[in-house]
Amino acid sequence: KKASIGVTGLAVMGRNLARNLARHGHTVALHNRSEQRTRELAEQFGSEGDFIPAYSAREFVNALERPRQVVVMVKAGAPTDAVIDEFAELLEPGDVIVDAGNAHFADTRRREAALRERGLHFVGTGVSGGEEGALHGPSIMPGGSKESYESLGPLLEDIAAKVDGTPCCAHIGPDGAGHFVKMVHNGIEYADMQLIAESFDLLRGALGYEPARIAEIFRTWNTGRLDSYLIEITAEVLAHTDAATGKPFVDVVLDQAEQKGTGRWTVQIGLDLGIPITGIAEATFARSLSGHANLRAATKGLGGPSRTPLSGSEAERFADDVEQALYASKVVAYAQGFNQIQAGSAEYGWNVDLGSVASLWRGGCIIRAKFLDDIRAAFEAGPELPTLLTSGDFRKAVEDAQDAWRSVVSTAVRLGIPTPGFSTALAYYDGLRADRLPAALVQGQRDYFGAHTYRRVDGEGSFHTEWATEARAERPA
Ligand code: NDP
Repeated sequence: KKASIGVTGLAVMGRNLARNLARHGHTVALHNRSEQRTRELAEQFGSEGDFIPAYSAREFVNALERPRQVVVMVKAGAPTDAVIDEFAELLEPGDVIVDAGNAHFADTRRREAALRERGLHFVGTGVSGGEEGALHGPSIMPGGSKESYESLGPLLEDIAAKVDGTPCCAHIGPDGAGHFVKMVHNGIEYADMQLIAESFDLLRGALGYEPARIAEIFRTWNTGRLDSYLIEITAEVLAHTDAATGKPFVDVVLDQAEQKGTGRWTVQIGLDLGIPITGIAEATFARSLSGHANLRAATKGLGGPSRTPLSGSEAERFADDVEQALYASKVVAYAQGFNQIQAGSAEYGWNVDLGSVASLWRGGCIIRAKFLDDIRAAFEAGPELPTLLTSGDFRKAVEDAQDAWRSVVSTAVRLGIPTPGFSTALAYYDGLRADRLPAALVQGQRDYFGAHTYRRVDGEGSFHTEWATEARAERPA
């Protein structure tokens, strides 16, 4: 018997994907550069399903039924290229190579174009959910040709997470679409985590609550509209006590956030596409600021207000206000992320279905949340929505939340608690709703120093003012 799919690269992610496939009744060929991992998988988990361990690339390829489907799950970057090149030599037209690692979508586009020339399908797919997700049901975002999805799709849908019986996997669009959407997923994840972290900081700074008490608040929030994996794990992290010191775990962790780079990619591409993804950008910069230990040490003690806890009715309302501010800011961050997908889709001709993206993020992935079902519904009702902020339910929810949102941001400013995520979300909201923006003045400045011209509110065309003469004439004597 031959295998319907093969996995090469059997570190944590590849091994768990292979096991997940086998547990769903698929025969899985196994391969890894060093034989040890292949052998271990077959020995430890061989009873979970049908595996065909292979100890050379050729043996692996020969174990696969046609069209062959090879999932590559190795270190991103040069190793991925090396493995793709190796298998491209051995495969035949119509076969499919799947890169399930965290590739940059531009690399995926390059690889897809090169393999297409050789008659091979190349599917760059986003896989979210980490190690556990890979084993028990990740959210899967495959790009590549429609044709490749015909053979590959059913297998991926089998192993994906399910929400209301719907698999968290759907064909996203050609070439790099899958990895692009996974990139934005990670960017949104950065923004969401930052907003949750700011909520914690606010509750602590403005109310003086201990982490365990804040964990309780997050648990309560998790029963409402903020119900999500990230809120759930936040409550667990905050409730955790460090065994060595007996202190709250969060107080013994060095406060310098790291990143592997997908957030940075999202911001870079956001700039390239001209999409204001300010929530993701601020979240990425907030991690960056936290990591500048020397700069932070040098600026310790710069003047500012002390974090005097609130009292009276302001204190009573505050936790509920933060919930509303968090919700509103979250809507903004997601709205921006979906705008970026819209823009990428238009730029590269991917025709991405935003409702389907929201749907497959409902389960399996890190940003999974009840909220995403509302986003799915919003895009299904209005696929051409210019922004989530104008969809009926979100519009009303954000309008209803805005008093609390403004109050929380002003409290943060007053107490000197940094809330880049909340603040930028509110500035974005006010920027969009403004009748007039000071961009008019910026245009005037540009025309003044660089003759960059401007357009007028009362007519077509571009205009330039002779500043040297006109402004001089107006100068006070
Ligand atoms: P690693 O990223 O640690 O990569 C290890 C695997 O790559 C091993 O199988 C290793 O083989 C193989 N490898 C490394 N270099 C080469 C090479 N030059 N030629 C052939 N094989 C090579 O594994 P992970 O399982 O952590 O991640 C795999 C992919 O999944 C990565 O792209 C990563 O970014 C992504 N990832 C995704 C996550 C998600 O949630 N979606 C979470 C974690 C990772 P050997 O055993 O011989 O050393």
